[in-house]
Amino acid sequence: MWVDSHCHLTYEETPENVAGVLERARAVGFGAFLSIGCRLDDIPLLEALAARYPDVFFSVGIHPHEAEETLSVTSLSSLRATLEEKISNPKVLGMGETGLDYYYDHSPRAVQQDVFRLQINLAKAHDLPLVIHTRDADDDTLAILKEEAGTGVKGVLHCFSGSRRLFEEGLDLGLYVSASGIVTFTKAADLRDIFKDVPLDRLLLETDAPYLAPTPHRGKRNESAFMIHTAKVIADLKEISLNELQDQTTKNFLTLFSKAAPYFT
Ligand SMILES: [Zn+2]
Repeated sequence: MWVDSHCHLTYEETPENVAGVLERARAVGFGAFLSIGCRLDDIPLLEALAARYPDVFFSVGIHPHEAEETLSVTSLSSLRATLEEKISNPKVLGMGETGLDYYYDHSPRAVQQDVFRLQINLAKAHDLPLVIHTRDADDDTLAILKEEAGTGVKGVLHCFSGSRRLFEEGLDLGLYVSASGIVTFTKAADLRDIFKDVPLDRLLLETDAPYLAPTPHRGKRNESAFMIHTAKVIADLKEISLNELQDQTTKNFLTLFSKAAPYFT
């Protein structure tokens, strides 16, 4: 089976659209979907989707874009308590998406950092992997991960499109690296070079749907079934078959997001 390790089913406008996305993906071999939380008010719908669909899992977390708004309605300590309560759901596989985004700076950097640190701490305390979003913030992302989690950090650099240094130091920390539709874009030659060097046992695949549709669907609304186009590019780069890539990335997913493993054995 294929796994979409990062999608946003909560951004589908109707329940029928969610059902359609899932059906079209299952028809081409998908067996699990990790729908990612970005805000506190995503959580009720994520819980409902995971309760309704056996193959839908989710994460809870505060995206760096949402850090300021979140702390305008709740304190850091009550945020911690709320997240801590939510992760007891067996279908919560990870913490995030969390991290730093200095490209958009939608939240002040100090606030992004506070909310990131809190989630690293919580993930570590509960042995959950982090789903990390980082953009134009390599230095601070690496420094904060090292300060808060040391080398024992579990997590994935989601939708990786960063520098070779971020990639190398992320691997040294033990992180996984996830490929999105960006690797299929004509201009992404440097990124494809980096993915040639990602060890097979640290590689994940994702869509980040509804964003970032791969070529030949670029510009359209993305959905899990389109991940096959990303997979083909990665399989070519790694000089392995699609079947081998599927086996390896699914195994990696179940290793990193180990709370999912009992559902598939
Ligand atoms: Zn995302």
